[in-house]
Amino acid sequence: MSVLVFAENWDGKFKNPSFEAVSYGKAVADKAGTDLIAVTFGNLEDDASVLGKYGANKVVHVSDAGAFDAHLYGNSLKDLANGLSAKVVVVSQSNNGKMLSSFLAVAWEAGMISNVVEAPESVAPIKVKKKVFSSKGIATVESSEERVVLALASNSFGAHEAATDAAVESGSTSGEAKTQSVEVDRATGQITLSEAEVVVSAGRGLKGPENWGMVEELAGLLGAATACSKPVSDVGWRPHTEHVGQTGKAIAPNLYIAIGISGAIQHLAGVSSSKVIVVVNSDPEAPFFKAADYGIVGDAFDVVPRLIEAVKELKG
Ligand SMILES: Cc1cc2nc3c(=O)[nH]c(=O)nc-3n(C[C@H](O)[C@H](O)[C@H](O)COP(=O)(O)OP(=O)(O)OC[C@H]3O[C@@H](n4cnc5c(N)ncnc54)[C@H](O)[C@@H]3O)c2cc1C
Repeated sequence: MSVLVFAENWDGKFKNPSFEAVSYGKAVADKAGTDLIAVTFGNLEDDASVLGKYGANKVVHVSDAGAFDAHLYGNSLKDLANGLSAKVVVVSQSNNGKMLSSFLAVAWEAGMISNVVEAPESVAPIKVKKKVFSSKGIATVESSEERVVLALASNSFGAHEAATDAAVESGSTSGEAKTQSVEVDRATGQITLSEAEVVVSAGRGLKGPENWGMVEELAGLLGAATACSKPVSDVGWRPHTEHVGQTGKAIAPNLYIAIGISGAIQHLAGVSSSKVIVVVNSDPEAPFFKAADYGIVGDAFDVVPRLIEAVKELKG
């Protein structure tokens, strides 16, 4: 038996979610006393052997795959898993990862556990903890199937170095893609919210769209993406693509700075997995402070310009 991990790459480059998934796969493989095999698709800019740094014993590079297609990637992973006698496949819960894990579980006739947050308590059967109720609870789930797809919640396990020498082998695709990427119109100079390590977010406390300059300036200085609460995008102060929460995007950056946002449960549902939360709010009783690692009680129009000055000073 072996453990497989889907190591996603973005335009040929591995990012933190790939390393986190490999680290998680390593923990599963160690528990099972077996090897970890990472599988990555498409053309690579990075050296595939870098995945060994996080515990992969072998990397299978399927270079003949084009852009992501759940059928093509899923069927290829299924055949690789069968060929390598894998019983567990780990997938990071990115946009593609969510589609892939569901497709693979059906195609491979496997159990599927999503939102996984911790290394398994046991591997035969697989028993893991997962987030439930919009991250407000944790459930322990056991798979009744021997084969299991584990979809790992972003930023839940972390990337851990485990220096292993990974041999790189080439693999090939199985089946056909059902979709083709015809054209990609990419926003330039903007940090994608779902991939951002730092997010500066603001809510109704900012009073109007004309006041977002300071939010954008702070985000620019921190290399952050901007986000907002639902009512802010509902009234058109900011685009809907920035809306985070239960009905918006769920994000898990390393740092989430919330300015003038009350911290309603529907907002927290999409941001509470952030590693560090900083809240700026003029109301000391704002519910968001209960979820914050650091809180600043103060007027955003006073605090944010001072934060900007402090960051500028720090950057020299
Ligand atoms: C089914 C459902 C789904 C929902 N989904 C989402 C969702 O996905 N995302 C989401 O965000 N909301 C969602 N909501 C709405 C949610 O319940 C809240 O109404 C919303 O999050 C509040 O937005 P806010 O914090 O920006 O505004 P408010 O609740 O108006 O809070 C503004 C905050 O700014 C502070 N403030 C005011 N002036 C200043 C100042 N000068 N400086 C500093 N702080 C100041 C206030 O003290 C207050 O805490 C949903 C609601 C429902 C019913």
